[in-house]
Amino acid sequence: MPSRQRLRPATHVLRRAPGELQFGTDPRWAVRFVGLDAAEETWMHAMTGTRPARTDASGLSAARRTTLLRLLRDARLLVPPPSSTAVSPAPGGGEAEAGVLGALLPDGDAHRVLAGRARATVAVVGLGRVGATLATTLTTAGVGTVTLHDTSPVLVTDVGLGGYRMRDVGARRDVALTRLLGEISPDVRTRCAPSSGAAGGSGPPDLVVVIEHRAADPGRVRELVGDGVAHLSVVVREADVLVGPFVRPGLDPCLRCVDLHRAEIDPCWPQVAQQLRDVSAPEHEESVVAAVAASVAAGQVLAFVDGSVPRTAAACLEIPAPDAMPRLRETSRHPLCGCGELTSAPPDGAPLARSARTSGRGRG
Ligand SMILES: [Zn+2]
Repeated sequence: MPSRQRLRPATHVLRRAPGELQFGTDPRWAVRFVGLDAAEETWMHAMTGTRPARTDASGLSAARRTTLLRLLRDARLLVPPPSSTAVSPAPGGGEAEAGVLGALLPDGDAHRVLAGRARATVAVVGLGRVGATLATTLTTAGVGTVTLHDTSPVLVTDVGLGGYRMRDVGARRDVALTRLLGEISPDVRTRCAPSSGAAGGSGPPDLVVVIEHRAADPGRVRELVGDGVAHLSVVVREADVLVGPFVRPGLDPCLRCVDLHRAEIDPCWPQVAQQLRDVSAPEHEESVVAAVAASVAAGQVLAFVDGSVPRTAAACLEIPAPDAMPRLRETSRHPLCGCGELTSAPPDGAPLARSARTSGRGRG
């Protein structure tokens, strides 16, 4: 193998039959090499560092080696060395993430993605079970700064999922969660901020996740839309959780677009929604849908942080009890909303805050 290239990390090399090797198991990229003779098999194992040579491969011609190398490159199995060895705040330096991240990238450079996560700031507004689980998942995955917005007390019904314990009941949610995140990763930076401001903190975050109950309030994120800050809506409803839309202001339909579409179907929706927002009642979050919703939300957040377009951009995922199997609902910009004008007129005249992160990325 050329010294500058290596076998894509975490690739399984499996012998299926004499003369037949399989690289990888994921149907998105797994390939088989067939018709190999014993020397070629040995050379492939030795070259990829997957098994010590047990027979002599010296009889392999240079032309045949060149052909096999080309086939490995065509199958995207050879990648360059990592560009950096940046330290990730994730437990174990992010090694648990690196294999999967590397498999997904054309250049296999998981460390570059982990470095991007380490630089990222994500704000979480609403720290019940969904918010706490989301925050702990993001910390586990190596996000460097997590801003916490919820000064209300930990309820006994918050305990368990997400990490709150009985000893935390009565303490401020943001304070209790700060301690939990510090126990997961001593290197993660946390900030507590008022619940009232969706962005808050000492600088604009890369994105904000707003967790609400019963019905989303587009007014809460109006400032984020105007400031060009990406945000994800999560709404815990009667018997399901709605994850989405993920809004990159100026690029995707916003929460107000969703509300306007719904009001076309149900003209009474605005007054119904307002009543739902005004309800003053305990905000419980059922275990299974809360766990799945938090994980799905974390996936959307990390997709954005890692440079992809989240699937819930222009869509919502409904996660219903009891089995929590997500259902995708597409949405679109509403002509009366006007949020699309941000595309040509960003608020400060500069490119949108995270517009550089909009290019999709994938190995295929
Ligand atoms: Zn809109």
